[in-house]
Amino acid sequence: MSGRAQLMWDEAVTGYDFGRDHPMDPVRLALTRRLVDAFGLDKDVDVVAAQPAGESTLRLVHREDYIEAVKAASVDPAAADQSYGIGTLDDPAFVGMHEVSALIAGQSVGAAEAVWRGEALHAVNFAGGLHHAMPGGASGFCIYNDASLAIARLLELGAERVAYIDVDVHHGDGVQAAFWEDPRVLTISLHEHPRTLFPQTGWPEETGGEAAEGTAVNVALPAGTGDAGWLRAFHSVVPELIAEFRPQVLVTQHGADTHFEDPLAHLAVSLDAQRAVQVACHDLAHEYADGKWVALGGGGYAVVEVVPRSWTHLVGIVAGRAIEPEAMIPEGWRQEVFARTRQLGPARMTDGRWPVSWVGWDAGYDPADRLDQAVLATRRAVFPLRGLLA
Ligand SMILES: [Zn+2]
Repeated sequence: MSGRAQLMWDEAVTGYDFGRDHPMDPVRLALTRRLVDAFGLDKDVDVVAAQPAGESTLRLVHREDYIEAVKAASVDPAAADQSYGIGTLDDPAFVGMHEVSALIAGQSVGAAEAVWRGEALHAVNFAGGLHHAMPGGASGFCIYNDASLAIARLLELGAERVAYIDVDVHHGDGVQAAFWEDPRVLTISLHEHPRTLFPQTGWPEETGGEAAEGTAVNVALPAGTGDAGWLRAFHSVVPELIAEFRPQVLVTQHGADTHFEDPLAHLAVSLDAQRAVQVACHDLAHEYADGKWVALGGGGYAVVEVVPRSWTHLVGIVAGRAIEPEAMIPEGWRQEVFARTRQLGPARMTDGRWPVSWVGWDAGYDPADRLDQAVLATRRAVFPLRGLLA
């Protein structure tokens, strides 16, 4: 029997803090958690604090010398070894960095265990989704790759087919790299084109290593892509691949930095489209993976206006009590936002774009359209490798 959905949370994850001028402000996690409570969603899930990932778990993905370097920098940040990507502008070292990074990873690993064992039907860790961390180094605000670790743990527990869908505006490069040669893991990333955005990878031609051709999928979207294009791209690529791969469990990364207000990237997606993709991932989990779904957060740097609403929608969907887009945001939460940030929080759970409409691939495509060119490039690069018609 599968129990209720789980929300993985330990207040200490808000200690993942690179400092005052860093864009990844942990207030985004705290405000999301409060908004979840403000809607009473904490009553609809089991709130679980998992143990931090231990050494043997971290080593499922990360190199021992890298873990040692993180630990050393965690004690003495001034001595961080930059050759591991730590102590840099993107990933400054801070006291306790190892512990809090392992704690976040532990929440994703715990989510994966609960879902695999049937203790929970779905589980969500919105503090996770740190998809840029590499086996041997930190990158792009990510120290340990909790998404990769969750997948590696699923494989360790016996999973033979795990699908990973990453809709963060940035390429899910660390997860792709971790399973590049592993045919058991299908990674699909939709992101802004590498020509215009970090980490400059995620080209459609990246389709997996020799032993795993066709298990890496990349949709490189033109800067400026909005709701209709983003949803068209998702639905023109993801469902067919998931249907063919037949995953036993679905892991999804929901970086909220595709939003038009996000300061670090150039897509123009609304909260309403983000919610629509969350619903689509939930549907795919039920249709193809027996409901087994691990949902993660990710990037998102509009920390007041966007992130809390986007991930509260995600928690609602995981909990089986989706928040309606039209819902008004409880006044108490807005007061807390003002007290903590001196900003006025949003008033509603929508950007006013609901319901978002888009046109399916079946209706045909326009070879001169840049969005359609992006979709076509992906389909042509990878669909034949999976026995699908491009
Ligand atoms: Zn991102």
